[in-house]
Amino acid sequence: MTYAPASGRYAGMRYNRTGRSGLKLPAVSLGLWHNFGGNDRLENGRAMVRRAFDLGITHFDLANNYGPPPGSAEENFGRILKQDLSAYRDELILSTKAGYYMWEGPYGEWGSRKQVLSSLDQSLKRMGVDYVDIFYHHRPDPDTPLEETMGALDHAVRSGKALYVGISNYSAEQAREASRILKRLGTPCLIHQPSYSMFNRWIEDGLQEVLVEEGIGSIVFSPLAGGLLSDRYLNGVPSDSRAGGPSVFLNQDQITESRLAQIRDLNGLAQERGQSLAGMALAWTLRGGRVTSALIGASRVSQIEDNVKALDNLDFSEAELAAIDRILAR
Ligand code: NDP
Repeated sequence: MTYAPASGRYAGMRYNRTGRSGLKLPAVSLGLWHNFGGNDRLENGRAMVRRAFDLGITHFDLANNYGPPPGSAEENFGRILKQDLSAYRDELILSTKAGYYMWEGPYGEWGSRKQVLSSLDQSLKRMGVDYVDIFYHHRPDPDTPLEETMGALDHAVRSGKALYVGISNYSAEQAREASRILKRLGTPCLIHQPSYSMFNRWIEDGLQEVLVEEGIGSIVFSPLAGGLLSDRYLNGVPSDSRAGGPSVFLNQDQITESRLAQIRDLNGLAQERGQSLAGMALAWTLRGGRVTSALIGASRVSQIEDNVKALDNLDFSEAELAAIDRILAR
């Protein structure tokens, strides 16, 4: 059936300016790391992308290696784009990344100009697009001069294959250095993509200050800690959950009794706020306006709907923040 996007789709979403750039991103963005690969049901992925767009989510995040198998999430997204969204390309912000292992031999990963630019060409082909909106270097490379990697990002923009560039998983110091190089080259760093959640607060220790100083936005990945910060595991480990499935990124060993006790108490607080735990966890990452967008994953449409409801209550009282800190400190 032909897809017609919801007419009121921009009314309920909040759009935040990305650092000191002209680009606004939705407060909630959708990532295609899990559940969009060749082993997943394309129709489910398609339904999620459509529903997300209907809810004002204009930003979809990919990487060369998302799948499994690697590359298949980009191929599937390309199919969905062609079937449903090709008329809306100018309403979409698509991102992809290079740097993690993608192909055999010395050029298939890390940060050489060869890896970064060949990988971008492959990604464009898989998605069937002429350009991406944001192109990232996915992880710092200890062995390649940063000038070379940043030079490759600059080239991606100058050759028309990316509109903006970003970095992911860079430390505070690495991010500052990358930003200075990119400024010198004339292609400012738009955005940093670090991990961040109630259970993983490393960016508060220096990185966020650097991003503010440099005028770089941030889109935080795994804001729900892969699903831990939701009601998913309150009553055991469902077989259709990330921890219950083959993903190596969340397993049952991480769901300890003490973790569960924290999750239960956070869930109680969320209920008092009239939110799901997932909603509260997303609102928490966006508190204070320092994060541009919370980059969620989802395995079903209802999760996207629940997550967008986070925007209904983004404010925290001092008492609520202190209560959350007390739970997290245990
Ligand atoms: P999340 O922390 O949002 O975890 C997503 C998972 O949480 C879902 O798959 C689902 O698990 C569960 N979930 C989501 N919403 C709800 C809800 N409302 N109620 C209950 N459970 C819910 O993020 P991800 O770890 O998936 O990462 C998000 C994106 O970040 C990726 O797709 C990718 O784009 C990016 N990313 C970037 C990285 C990088 O190095 N730059 C690394 C990792 C991710 P279930 O499947 O069990 O239903």
